[in-house]
Amino acid sequence: MQALIRHLETQTGQSLQNSSLRSIGGGDINSAYRLKTENIDWFIKLNRADLASMFVAEAAGLREFAGMGAVRVPDVICFGDFQQYAYLVLEFIELRSLNGNSASLFGQQLAQLHSQRQAYFGWPIDNTIGSTPQHNDRKDDWVGFWRQQRLSKQLQLAATNGYGSSLQSQGEKLLARIGDFFSDYRPHPSLLHGDLWGGNAAADSQGQPIIFDPACYYGDREADLAMTELFGGFGRDFYAAYQAEYPLNNGYKIRKTLYNLYHILNHLNLFGSGYLSQAINMINQLLAELK
Ligand code: ADP
Repeated sequence: MQALIRHLETQTGQSLQNSSLRSIGGGDINSAYRLKTENIDWFIKLNRADLASMFVAEAAGLREFAGMGAVRVPDVICFGDFQQYAYLVLEFIELRSLNGNSASLFGQQLAQLHSQRQAYFGWPIDNTIGSTPQHNDRKDDWVGFWRQQRLSKQLQLAATNGYGSSLQSQGEKLLARIGDFFSDYRPHPSLLHGDLWGGNAAADSQGQPIIFDPACYYGDREADLAMTELFGGFGRDFYAAYQAEYPLNNGYKIRKTLYNLYHILNHLNLFGSGYLSQAINMINQLLAELK
């Protein structure tokens, strides 16, 4: 680690003499450290050097959010690879849970972010969702994007992982009918966080909302909202503020299952068969809506 710290010194031109380095829990994928001197306070994510492209995409995503100015993200200090490490260095922010005012502010800010129209569906580079590759080929047609770049890719991966039979046959039926969920709804491309569960949003010590660890792309804002509901929800204040700023279309209640299916299939591919029956139930529930 000392060699990496010397490397970061040359990369940033900052003196890191007398720095203290502390390992902090880290997330699901990477290990994480806090590096402090009198003048700097950094959050460092580390992974294997061959995974450096994950951090290139994460840094690009954070910079894109920063440019939009709607929701605060940590500043990117630098990223790259050195010896056995890929690294991403961010400003360290003391994080608190979102609640009350900060949750409400986050709902308003996310709605403001989503209301800004982007030029196409997709994103300039591919990234990852968890550690699974996420494909972002540019498209003007959202239904085609969701079918090909999202559900179809996860179903193919599931087939490779040995989840055949009814998942694949029901999945095929659903892929053929995705357009039916959009008969009276034409989403526009919005910058999405892409992996917006409770572990990737917080507030700073002033109560300003912060998002981090994005898997971003331009897509239907309902996909971000759906994910906020998948693992517990962000609380009444968040949803009330979002709705007040930029109300959702009624069909969201049904389409959210179509959007969360992507994440459940991804969990199936990452964490195993515990998610298989949930994935099949979601597909069947969606097909039942079309009868
Ligand atoms: P992973 O990609 O490994 O899941 P995350 O980016 O989600 O890692 O970070 C892991 C944890 O570290 C987060 O849940 C959060 O609590 C904390 N964290 C993330 N970014 C920062 C930051 N810039 N400053 C301080 N803590 C952070």
